[in-house]
Amino acid sequence: MSSDRIIFSRPFRARQELANLEAVLNSDHSHGDGAFTASATAKIKAITEAPHALLTTSCTSALEMAGLLLELGPDDEVIVPSFAFTSTATSMALRGVTCVFADIDLATGNLDPASVAAALTPRTKAVVVIHYGGVAAEMAELLALADTHGFAIIEDNAHGLGGRWRGRPLGTIGTLGTLSFHDTKNVHCGEGGALLLTDEILMARAEIIREKGTDRARFLRGAVDKYSWQDIGSSYLPSELNAAVLDAQLAAFDVIQAGRHRVWDGYASALPDWAARNDVRLMTVPDDREHTAHLYFLRTPTEARRDDLISHLGSLGISAPFHYVPLDSSPAGFKLGRTPNPCVRSAEFSGTVVRLPLWPDLSDAQVARVVDAVTAFTV
Ligand SMILES: *Cc1c(COP(=O)(O)O)cnc(C)c1O
Repeated sequence: MSSDRIIFSRPFRARQELANLEAVLNSDHSHGDGAFTASATAKIKAITEAPHALLTTSCTSALEMAGLLLELGPDDEVIVPSFAFTSTATSMALRGVTCVFADIDLATGNLDPASVAAALTPRTKAVVVIHYGGVAAEMAELLALADTHGFAIIEDNAHGLGGRWRGRPLGTIGTLGTLSFHDTKNVHCGEGGALLLTDEILMARAEIIREKGTDRARFLRGAVDKYSWQDIGSSYLPSELNAAVLDAQLAAFDVIQAGRHRVWDGYASALPDWAARNDVRLMTVPDDREHTAHLYFLRTPTEARRDDLISHLGSLGISAPFHYVPLDSSPAGFKLGRTPNPCVRSAEFSGTVVRLPLWPDLSDAQVARVVDAVTAFTV
């Protein structure tokens, strides 16, 4: 058995990456919207069944585009989970909105619809929902609230490419969806992202916003004979170099997902007895959801024992980090947000969560080593 360090996450290498990169470098086209952008976009649309998809430079920039498309402004409030990555909130704050923090469900780490309902005001224009770990949030309740109160739902689907809720692909259930291709995510190109859209009119505007406010996309399709400044916008189009790597990764999507699910299933089948003996909560997936094996988490009864478990694993050469300092208690959260009800479960989740190493090439022997190390710990 190896005593090498087991790192938490290792970016996948797809077989075609180098050949694709070489093809771009040998062409005279490395700016965006070339053949690899088209090919990667088609693969994303096939996986997500989204009517429209646009590659972006990151999930953060896709969220910024969502804020622009929904015309969010200083009079608006956007509800975001307190237990979230910074981009989820800062992309909204960039539009001058007030971020209103809502709490999560302790079992899933996902936004609690009751907490959203309690945070609604006449100024609520959007709710950003994360499908934490690639397990769908409580979409039935959130869609019902959106129907009644008329807010938009933005799905920050950084974890959930290929996941489903009641058969519906994540990222296509709300008004707009975003994906991340950062190298810590299931599919990556170093840094990258995508915006998923179902609405024709939003799509027409999105491709202009993404291209510095111009109708260059229409020009490339031959629909206009020159392109010009049409609207506000920015530079959210990734280069062909990124798209070339992304296209190779997406071609290997099934291999990536099979590897990740093998590891996830390994943890899920080996840990329940130990968890029951030690009052530890394991990640669970409700029956009406297909998850993406983006991460495998467990929660200890206290923060002190969580920190002890992380040190114990560290001493055995295993990296198992926690994450997400609750946004409502972070410096920018105080300045740019409002917390109508204390987000106590976000704080508890953040204080007790551990994530185990998970990447597609983790061997069965390494999974067994992680399981042995975890189960040797008495909580
Ligand atoms: C990674 C991540 C992001 C940011 O993705 P980038 O592509 O790095 O901008 C946003 N939201 C969540 C939930 C994430 O995990």
